[in-house]
Amino acid sequence: MSPVLAALGKIFQDESILTEAADLIHYGKDRTDQYEPAPLAIVFPRCVEEVQQVVRLANQIGFRIVPSGGRTGLSGGACATRGEVVVSMERMNRIVDFDPLDRLVRCEAGVLTATLQSFAESKRLFFPIDLASAGSSQIGGNVATNAGGNRAVCYGMLRQWVRGLTVVSGAGEILYLGKGLKKNNTGYDLMQLFIGSEGTLGIICDATLELVSPPNIQVALLGLKAFDQVLELFQYCQEHLRILSFEYCSAAAIEQAQKEISSHFPLEAAAHYVLLEHDGLRRTLEDVLQQWYTRQPDTCAVLASSRRQAIDLKRWRECISTAIASAVPLKCDVAVRPSVLSAFFEDLEKLAEDFADWQLVLFGHIGDGNLHVNWLPGKESGHQQVVSHQRQLLQDRVYELVIKHGGAIAAEHGVGLLKKTFLTSSTDGSIVSLARQVADLLDPNGVLNPGKVYS
Ligand SMILES: Cc1cc2nc3c(=O)[nH]c(=O)nc-3n(C[C@H](O)[C@H](O)[C@H](O)COP(=O)(O)OP(=O)(O)OC[C@H]3O[C@@H](n4cnc5c(N)ncnc54)[C@H](O)[C@@H]3O)c2cc1C
Repeated sequence: MSPVLAALGKIFQDESILTEAADLIHYGKDRTDQYEPAPLAIVFPRCVEEVQQVVRLANQIGFRIVPSGGRTGLSGGACATRGEVVVSMERMNRIVDFDPLDRLVRCEAGVLTATLQSFAESKRLFFPIDLASAGSSQIGGNVATNAGGNRAVCYGMLRQWVRGLTVVSGAGEILYLGKGLKKNNTGYDLMQLFIGSEGTLGIICDATLELVSPPNIQVALLGLKAFDQVLELFQYCQEHLRILSFEYCSAAAIEQAQKEISSHFPLEAAAHYVLLEHDGLRRTLEDVLQQWYTRQPDTCAVLASSRRQAIDLKRWRECISTAIASAVPLKCDVAVRPSVLSAFFEDLEKLAEDFADWQLVLFGHIGDGNLHVNWLPGKESGHQQVVSHQRQLLQDRVYELVIKHGGAIAAEHGVGLLKKTFLTSSTDGSIVSLARQVADLLDPNGVLNPGKVYS
């Protein structure tokens, strides 16, 4: 038995360590599905102290750790490819505390996002973050990636709702950060450093999150002729509605979604589609869209009149990722300011002309300026080697456009392994150096998530 496994055996009972080949594959990868999983073992701590013990052991005898949540990540952050020990948080899955006056819930890292959503509902409250992966992603993973999702246009990203964290740093120290306070200007806000750090600075053991009053959600799906109309509609809705989400799907994206959905698409064909949620009365949404229609009579629209219909309409947007997965698309999750989207979109269309074998499938959280730019290789793309070469070229060209338009090459899915090279080559050297110094302070022996983000 390897010395690392022998030492882990002193912390964890047999049922909390897995080393079978099938388990190593299962827990060694995320949804990117493009990195060969090769961890040494998977361990399942049940409390903060066990997390601390495994991190301290890693520092003492020199092995590397991959913190692991629901492995729904899309940037390879939870992939273990080089004999690391995967620390899975799935058995730390209790909702520990709830206070209705503070509207705060403290939950362990392994609580599923959907479980927290249901818990909030049972208390007549609402967890502001919603992702299509909510059934599998975990709160720890959501915090570690600073998840965005459909409603960031209204509620912001997850960091806005985190009021406290318990973290084991890479040095093996337990840190209690945040105190559950909304207002706390006592020195530097170190808690924020861990949010979005993708498991490179510390392992999040629990999070205290703020819940809000439940919105009165009304859903509409609209078809529009021109991309600029999508942006005009966004501005118009911002002025007249309380927008909870404003999601975009290109015609190509809806065509792909149709592979997942057996019923007919409920609108006439259009070039662009918007799925929006309004918090308020259905009547208000109807009136506002009616007025919009007098300005843009070529718009087509359908409004949900029941919760069931709302779910059905939203499915057209939510299933796109799954619908295109088998084509192994090049996925670029990027953001620019909404005012720059039109110019960025034009450049993407020109780029699509240069890569005519690839199909551009665009969708995303357009209200935040966040587009998921997906490229599907065509059947004519040729030999595997040519496809990978083109994939690299295409990716570089997309990121160059993003930089040109002052945007972010990682909008909400993080950097992980996928964007690491581009991150370090496109970021000011002094910022990269400062980020590495921060990581060295919190994880002096580099035991956490090696090879990811800045490391
Ligand atoms: C269909 C689909 C839709 C999606 N939609 C969205 C979306 O709308 N918005 C969005 O933001 N993302 C989206 N994602 C991406 C993904 O679901 C999020 O990034 C999610 O927050 C990851 O959570 P997870 O528990 O699966 O984390 P994992 O994939 O397990 O891990 C992600 C990163 O966090 C680290 N990590 C995990 N747990 C911990 C912990 N306890 N402590 C420290 N580090 C940890 C890992 O090392 C890794 O670097 C989507 C993914 C899919 C498959």
